[in-house]
Amino acid sequence: MTLTAPPRLLLVHAHPDDESLWTGGTIARYAAYGAHVTVVTCTLGEEGEVIPEGLRGLGPEAADQLGGYRVGELRGACAALGVIDHRFLGGMGRWRDSGMAGTAANKHQRCFVAGDLQEQTAALAAILREVKPQVVVTYDSFGGYGHPDHIRAHEVTMAATAEVPGIDRVFHTVTARAHLDLGVAGLKELESLPFRLPADGELPAVDDALITTSVDITDHVPAKLSALRAHATQVQVWQGNDGAAAYALSNGIAQPVLATEHFVLARGSAEGIATDLFGGGGAPGTDGGGTR
Ligand SMILES: [Zn+2]
Repeated sequence: MTLTAPPRLLLVHAHPDDESLWTGGTIARYAAYGAHVTVVTCTLGEEGEVIPEGLRGLGPEAADQLGGYRVGELRGACAALGVIDHRFLGGMGRWRDSGMAGTAANKHQRCFVAGDLQEQTAALAAILREVKPQVVVTYDSFGGYGHPDHIRAHEVTMAATAEVPGIDRVFHTVTARAHLDLGVAGLKELESLPFRLPADGELPAVDDALITTSVDITDHVPAKLSALRAHATQVQVWQGNDGAAAYALSNGIAQPVLATEHFVLARGSAEGIATDLFGGGGAPGTDGGGTR
């Protein structure tokens, strides 16, 4: 009998909903294969724009209860994805959503970007030492789309993973341009889609040539959709009769639900990573993928 450590995947996200939007299918896939998946969320998402009218009173201009409410949404999403290990960086409520660049929320004394980078890095490093993930995922240096908290999450993750030994690979979660464009083209075929279609290049994405790893999430799209639905203050999910699906954030722009999630290797060996974050050369759980 051979005992091998289970693969451990840790993802660092800025706000509740990012884990589902960016990496929901990947989380569900690895969790389904028995990997230990840890999600670290850096803020409570207090500044998120609330979609349902009846919940807008939770926002920072009124009751300022959105962060606590979103903890419940996040819990629902984690359950849908199979995540049993969720943490808030520094403990729940330590750092606040900084809001979009240039807003008053950037000035809040507890906001994530005004926090001490070393303290934040130490908080993540402590989790990394405890969980001992072989693979860590966060955003690229642009934070995927420029949100200050996403950029800070990137900085904190790159700094913490550099100081903790035993991490084989760090990846950036990205949207691949050509793949996204194909998905958007598919949306144009849909009738009665309740969202506005994006203009060419309107949705942020990276050049496909940068992609190192494509994780097939076909079988886990239903879990991803359930997780997105759990974030009802932030995301609207639409599904047609034939199963076609799309979602929109508060901007009302339609986004396709793609069957692949894409990553760029930021640190570590590129061997065997075309379709597996753990470098198994194939599906997770096969050919030694993810075991060590
Ligand atoms: Zn976010």
